[in-house]
Amino acid sequence: MDLRQIDCLVHEHVMQECRHRHVREHTERTDSGYHIYPRCVDCGVNVVEAVVPKYSSDMEAAMKVWHALRARGVYLDVQTYADFYAVVARHESGPMVKLAYDEATSLPQAICGVALLVNGVEVPKS
Ligand SMILES: [Zn+2]
Repeated sequence: MDLRQIDCLVHEHVMQECRHRHVREHTERTDSGYHIYPRCVDCGVNVVEAVVPKYSSDMEAAMKVWHALRARGVYLDVQTYADFYAVVARHESGPMVKLAYDEATSLPQAICGVALLVNGVEVPKS
């Protein structure tokens, strides 16, 4: 699966951001005239300017995923190896139950893989 597809899955299922499914043309009156753009009816965002962060390839964006999971009581442990990263998701309280495990050659990708698994989404390995 393409990394940008993974980013979109993370955006929807983990970050629970709007996917802008209901788009209408919106006209806005500004000082310089009329500004017409496709706007999401649900969240009001200009869908041309809306960009899904590169969660699976950018560490700064992946940290947002990490923090979002932590805010829900899901904690990530990272193991570093010579040629891949392994990420385990667990709950802090209760018995040490492993929620999910994933590994990838890049840390952001491993974080996204495990975050999706926690949310019941399996990314096919290509
Ligand atoms: Zn939207």
